[in-house]
Order: sequence, then structure tokens, then C-alpha cells
Amino acid sequence: MTPGEQLRQIANAVNGSTLLGLLLAGAARTSVSAGPAGLLVACDYRWRLPVARAFTVGNVVLFRAGRAEALADRVLLGHEARHCTQYAWCLGVPFLPLYFVAAAWSLWRTGNPGTGNVFERHAGLRAGGYPEPGIRPSDPDPRPEDPFAPDHYEV
Ligand SMILES: [Zn+2]
Repeated sequence: MTPGEQLRQIANAVNGSTLLGLLLAGAARTSVSAGPAGLLVACDYRWRLPVARAFTVGNVVLFRAGRAEALADRVLLGHEARHCTQYAWCLGVPFLPLYFVAAAWSLWRTGNPGTGNVFERHAGLRAGGYPEPGIRPSDPDPRPEDPFAPDHYEV
């Protein structure tokens, strides 16, 4: 874990947002386990809302998929990790009303909750499954990346 990821983990523990995520994960009867970068991965989320493959509360990333599939989707996991960082910058729970205002703005301006949403833009629109302005969703991703890949490889 990098110092920044550790700081994020501590910030979201102190601000209570990770506790809120764990309470939600428990209420939804997901299975929670440690993931990369100090994240907690909650799998097999079955509630109807939100309509998303994954979403984040504090340092808890809740996936509809099972653990193996969730951890294999490094691009989506990286997107959700950026939301974890946003929680820390917003001092935890205030992220939620700020996010909903940004989503409403985006919906009004672009017709979907992500394209014009500053939080989704920062987390990566394509990685989160949102259309980028001027790019069709069916176009290949020009920037495939593994956000958890090490900066360098030992030989
Ligand atoms: Zn997102």
C-alpha cells in the first residue's frame, strides 16, 4: 500500500464513511474481504439500487459480481478506488450529497448521470461505464490500464 493509499484508508476510517460502507455491506448481506490498495471489497451485492455494477462508500467497494470477477476487473476497481479518494477529500459522508448534486447536474446537461459529473469525470468515465462526450460507448478504450500495476517490474 502506498503512503497515499494508507492516508486515504485512515481518513475514511476517521470520517466514518468506511463504517457506513461496512454497515451497508452487512445489511445487504455481502461478503467483505480485503482488496488491493487498502480497499475492502464487498461482493454479491443484490439490492436493486443503485443501478451500477459497483459503487463505493468510504473505502468499501460494493460489487454485484463475486469476488473473483470483481478483483479481475482492475479498471473498474481503479475507478472505484478514485471514488474512495474523493470520499477522503470530501471528509467522508458529505461526498454523497455533493455527488448527487453533480449527478443531477450531469443528467440535466448531458442526459446521463456520469458524463458531466465532476466526480465521475475525475474517476474516469470509460472505466466507470459512462459515455465520454464525442466518443461512442462501443469505441475501443484508447487508454487501457491497470491502475494497480506496479510502477516498475523487478527482473
Ligand atoms: Zn464512478
